[in-house]
Amino acid sequence: MTVWARPEDAVMPLDVQLGDRAIMRKPHPCGSYEWRVVRIGADIGLRCLSCDHKVLLPRRQFERQVKKLTREAPAVLPDGG
Ligand SMILES: [Zn+2]
Repeated sequence: MTVWARPEDAVMPLDVQLGDRAIMRKPHPCGSYEWRVVRIGADIGLRCLSCDHKVLLPRRQFERQVKKLTREAPAVLPDGG
């Protein structure tokens, strides 16, 4: 699993990918900070991991609100020759 935190004043576009888990700065009303990225585009689609609520955020707003992204590393296949 890859974990990284972005600096407060990051100006680079966030490298967000489908299936990433996003830890937000503020909790959802249900109490969860964790969301799954379910849509990538001009808007970022997120699904709350606790209550299944879905939201669509403009990328800019998402970048502002996300604290951390975690991504499961792709499985490494053994070299079968
Ligand atoms: Zn929720």
